[in-house]
Amino acid sequence: MPADHLALDLAVTIRHDGHGGVADDLAEPAGLTRWVRAHAAELQADLAAGPHTAAGFTADAAALTAAVEVRTAVRALFARAVLPGPPSSADAGRLPSAAQALDRLNAAAALVPVTPQLDWPQDGFPAERRTVAGAPAAADLLAAALARHAIGFLAGPERELLRACPAPRCVRYFVKEHARQEWCKPSCGNRARVARHHAKHRAAAGGDPR
Ligand SMILES: [Zn+2]
Repeated sequence: MPADHLALDLAVTIRHDGHGGVADDLAEPAGLTRWVRAHAAELQADLAAGPHTAAGFTADAAALTAAVEVRTAVRALFARAVLPGPPSSADAGRLPSAAQALDRLNAAAALVPVTPQLDWPQDGFPAERRTVAGAPAAADLLAAALARHAIGFLAGPERELLRACPAPRCVRYFVKEHARQEWCKPSCGNRARVARHHAKHRAAAGGDPR
């Protein structure tokens, strides 16, 4: 089974805007609609009990608030996971405490209790289906699903490979794919090397880099 990076993908919806600032892909419901549809494969089973399929999901204000609240908890717990390394600088100063984040994440997961069921047709493959009691609101279904994915990630082996990219201006978290990986992507490594080179140059020229 491929690794579940949905929590990571949720966290990095807060990103560098390409101009030295920070952008938020989930600033409006339309942004969440796009994000959920882009992750329809991962969320399909989670949202199957709701009024929309993942591919046809349309976010409203309630869904946005719920998803952003889970994201804030995830980012606070990511900041804890990368210790003693530094967290993403995008929101490091305005995150809830790890204890508050845990409460929020667990409360979101508890919004929709899920029962796993095995479905194995006579001439087909076994598959896990999930049933939920009642008819939960779409916002609750989504928040609970995002929280479950985050719990799986944070309780799993990849948490130890999580890092905040240290390249200038980058605010991304990433999962290291090999031991020597320092940056979230090669372009960040290039930018960091250029910055280092200039800093060394200034030092060699006798100038104070500050
Ligand atoms: Zn980066």
